[in-house]
Amino acid sequence: MKILVINSGSSSLKFQVIDSESEKVLVKGLCERIGIDGSFTYKTDKVSVKEPVAMKNHTDAVNTLLNALIDSEKGIISDFSQIDVIGHRLVHGGEKFTGSVVVTDEVIQAMTECNDLAPLHNPANLVGVDACRKLMPDTLMVGVFDTAFNQTMEPKAYLYGLPYRYYEKYKIRRYGFHGISHKYVSQRAAEFMGQDLWHVKTIVCHLGNGASISAVKYGRVVDNSMGFTPLEGLVMGTRCGDVDPGALEFLAKKENLDFSQIMAILNQESGVLGISKNFSSDFRELKDAEIKYNEKAALAREIFAYKVAKYVGSYAAAMNGVDNIVFTAGVGENDSDIRQEICSYLEFLGITIDELKNRDQGEAVKISDSASRVNVLVIRTNEELEIAREAAEVARQAAG
Ligand code: ADP
Repeated sequence: MKILVINSGSSSLKFQVIDSESEKVLVKGLCERIGIDGSFTYKTDKVSVKEPVAMKNHTDAVNTLLNALIDSEKGIISDFSQIDVIGHRLVHGGEKFTGSVVVTDEVIQAMTECNDLAPLHNPANLVGVDACRKLMPDTLMVGVFDTAFNQTMEPKAYLYGLPYRYYEKYKIRRYGFHGISHKYVSQRAAEFMGQDLWHVKTIVCHLGNGASISAVKYGRVVDNSMGFTPLEGLVMGTRCGDVDPGALEFLAKKENLDFSQIMAILNQESGVLGISKNFSSDFRELKDAEIKYNEKAALAREIFAYKVAKYVGSYAAAMNGVDNIVFTAGVGENDSDIRQEICSYLEFLGITIDELKNRDQGEAVKISDSASRVNVLVIRTNEELEIAREAAEVARQAAG
């Protein structure tokens, strides 16, 4: 099957076409600056283009990518019927969606009801779904949710210490995010180590611009560091992670700020960017600055690593043990110094790192040495492949 994977954001739309049997990526690309001026990137084995293309809206963006797919020079198919399924990344499925589903009018209605829970992401996802339905009305669409894998969390993990009535009334609870990545990486780790997924305890550290940690016990998520929104948990690129709400009331009064101003600070001005006094949210730039004795850049990286280590320690307790700790995403896959620093806090778990292996690059690398009591791995995440796999599976089930 050929699966078109769509990840639609507010002004960008990433796409890939993946052959589900060989799992080969046939095309990958990106529509950017939708509604502004428009830029289109498209790559296959044979061609690589980046060109300005005016895109007023997401329908224009989907139109642009579909036309490229059937183009006589750069295309990979001769007509749209060769796309068997479209798999959409959908951020928030609330409590309703515990797995991937065929996108129907009812699913769109249910997702629209979740818009309040993820006002930045869900409407943008739905615009992408809508554009595809307009242009390819006969193609099966599958929704793959970033929250679904985390839906196995128990109430003791997902409830806040708030009055229970707010959970009943508004579903205020922890949902956890990055589920597509946590699922792919935890399963790939077990496969790479030759383990039975249903007998291993894995902690996945998804450390990118947005960062989260999950505890996956016997294939099921026990906990995830993100909460009601992707703001909770680790210190991230620009997001604050865990903060005492009392500090926010104090800040609002001192600076005369309203809630939306406070939220903008927490989402866009905090994290390592804020700690480094606006030096950068980019971990590479922070590392370069640290080498040049920028104290705040060094402090930002130190706080980031400390917080990751604390979550790993608490998740080892949540699962009463851990077999694998896996680093993934931009920082987790590439920053060997941060990995080393995080692991230095974890010696009490019997973790020892092979410094040479920690510098290796690859799709999957074991960086712990043979004496280590826990396997420490670096695995490249592949959310698009996970979406394609889920979409193919749902399509097979739908076909009976
Ligand atoms: P997201 O998908 O959340 O935007 P990514 O997973 O792409 O984020 O991660 C982006 C982060 O990864 C950036 O802070 C970037 O600096 C960092 N990163 C990428 N490559 C390296 C590297 N070689 N060393 C350190 N950090 C890196």
